[in-house]
Amino acid sequence: MPVPFADLQLQYQTIKGEIDGAIAAVIRDNSFIRGPYVDAFEREFADAVDIKHCLSCANGTDALYLAFAALNVQPGDEVITTAHSWISTSAMITHAGATVVFCDTDDSTFTINPAAIEVAITPRTVGIVPVHLYGQPADMDAIMAIAKKHQLWVVEDCAQAHLARYKGRQVGTFGNAATYSFYPGKNLGAMGDAGAVVTNDDALAEHMTMLARHGGLTKHQHEIEGINSRLDGMQAAILSAKLPHLPDWTLARQRAAKVYDAGLNQVDGVVVPGVAAERSHVYHLYTILHPRRDALAAHLGSNGVQTAINYPTALPFLAAYSRFGHRPEQFPNAHRQQGTILSLPMFAEITADQQRAVIDLVRAF
Ligand SMILES: *Cc1c(COP(=O)(O)O)cnc(C)c1O
Repeated sequence: MPVPFADLQLQYQTIKGEIDGAIAAVIRDNSFIRGPYVDAFEREFADAVDIKHCLSCANGTDALYLAFAALNVQPGDEVITTAHSWISTSAMITHAGATVVFCDTDDSTFTINPAAIEVAITPRTVGIVPVHLYGQPADMDAIMAIAKKHQLWVVEDCAQAHLARYKGRQVGTFGNAATYSFYPGKNLGAMGDAGAVVTNDDALAEHMTMLARHGGLTKHQHEIEGINSRLDGMQAAILSAKLPHLPDWTLARQRAAKVYDAGLNQVDGVVVPGVAAERSHVYHLYTILHPRRDALAAHLGSNGVQTAINYPTALPFLAAYSRFGHRPEQFPNAHRQQGTILSLPMFAEITADQQRAVIDLVRAF
């Protein structure tokens, strides 16, 4: 039985009427750039993630840039982030003008290790960027305590963690700002690029809004030099159509994760994803560890099961960061994990038969 890694076409079929209606309405209203569909989605998403301001933008990478730029990072400033993420997290720190300082992950949740943050802080440190990787919240109490002690800002990268909770509270509500991606494959995905930055801070919200809209809130009044990072009306309407389904889709992912956990946790060599106490994981990715990862992936692939490696090279070891001369022993967990992680098919509509096929193949291997 072929099992895709994700199935966006299937998701579309389950809500086709709503999506098609949303697209038709935007075309009917000529509401392509900003306008009522964008305003509506911003309000709805802010409510959904329990935050005051949501500013939509072109993608999750821009969202990170807007947050860092609005926090006024300066050349020489150091910003701490995790060794294990998608490159947007660290690249935007650099593009906003600061210096990236990587920290290792802990050994079970794939998120930044607070103990490593303490060690990395210098007089030049200005902020911390935890990533709720794969959909599991980072250890926000520990991170916020460090930030408070050293007077640092925190920007949460929530690109993989829509609706995830830490001690009952939604991710993205702990730091000064938080960023989301609505890339099609994310837990809430547009049909193109889309992103947002959220905050409870009124002044920061206004600064980020200006930055995203050519540096001003009123046409032809440019208070600062901004960029053009907008959410299309079409994507906003699609996201508004999908948002009411997100809680159910999240539950479906969590149920599917339980099925994998039960089927795989006794299998020799397989480590199923650990979830720390009082954290709700929304399983953007279901990522196991296996010492013979490449052979296992090949075995699954040759039997029709798509897998992915998120990500094959941890950030400090990418060519983009060769200038730092990082060594594996500085990031032992991230380095070990890059060679053993394997993400299995995970999407809300995955069937019991598909999961059974994946589990049986892993067991047979
Ligand atoms: C997807 C992702 C981003 C970037 O989002 P885009 O919308 O693709 O620009 C940033 N950080 C993380 C952790 C991501 O997974």
